[in-house]
Amino acid sequence: MKSILKQAAVAVAALGFAAGALAQGFPSKPVQMVVPFTAGGPTDTVARSLAVAMGKHLGQSVVVENVGGAGGTVGAGRVKNAQPDGYSILLHHIGMSTAPTLYRKLAYNPQTDFETLGLVVDVPMTLIARSDFPAENFADFLKYVKANNTKLNLANAGIGAASHLCGLLFMSAIETDITTVPFKGTADVLNALLAKQVDFTCDQTTNTTSQIQAHVADKSKGVKVYGVTSAKRVATLPSVPTLQELGMKGFEVGVWHGAYAPKGTPKAAIDKLVAAMQAAVKDPEFVKRMTDLGAAIYTADKITPTAHAAHLKSEIERWAPIIKKAGAYAD
Ligand code: ASP
Repeated sequence: MKSILKQAAVAVAALGFAAGALAQGFPSKPVQMVVPFTAGGPTDTVARSLAVAMGKHLGQSVVVENVGGAGGTVGAGRVKNAQPDGYSILLHHIGMSTAPTLYRKLAYNPQTDFETLGLVVDVPMTLIARSDFPAENFADFLKYVKANNTKLNLANAGIGAASHLCGLLFMSAIETDITTVPFKGTADVLNALLAKQVDFTCDQTTNTTSQIQAHVADKSKGVKVYGVTSAKRVATLPSVPTLQELGMKGFEVGVWHGAYAPKGTPKAAIDKLVAAMQAAVKDPEFVKRMTDLGAAIYTADKITPTAHAAHLKSEIERWAPIIKKAGAYAD
């Protein structure tokens, strides 16, 4: 009996050693980064820039895979169930902190089923409408929305997406219900807006900046913008007022992004991924792309597992009462 136990102990130690040794050589093959929304959208844009920059540091490519659906919860669930070996990571946003309140049955616990790697960027949202929306300013927009709420479509990327959260806050602030139309990502929402199939949405500047600029140049093109959700105006869209300036008290949503690995990923792999993220956010191409699109890059002290975990916890606590007050749940 004793010797069986001893053999088992040796086997367990050997396995631990093997995992450690594997992690030492990490990464020996490409790393997969899951984006829980469709390609070409705002989170995808951040992920693809980050992946290229991380790849330079890791000496292996970081390959983005889009797994859209249910406001980002399908992709997050995929990474929760992936091998915890460092080769599967998730790039998600604020939705990681709102899903536990929004979903009565969520297939994962954001705090206990993942290793937080670090925060990446914080992105403001813009309130935008199809180019021919019959309102030239926010006051007229509000009047029109309230008078025509039953006829309008407010698009989003599914329950738990930032666009959903922003739309929810908007409807709650103006005490008006509007029919919402879910897509798998705001890349699809933007296409639907450009095709005038939906009326308006809230979306991140990483997706909307070029279409807002296109509309300024030619009123028949792109999308109309009414306001931004940040506390201060966005440097790249200086003429667009904040929603707070427009009288929407306390309306502030910053779409913070962070990276995750499945729980149990070896520390040696985590350390290398975090170091790659730290290097990536200083990469000139990454910095330029993010800055041009209105995203604020986190400082190095926030690109750590502990700072990210603390932020996630405080965001879960911050949004729970707001979501409950808005009375929004999904099964
Ligand atoms: N970030 C999502 C996307 O990339 C959209 C959202 O959160 O609303 O499509």
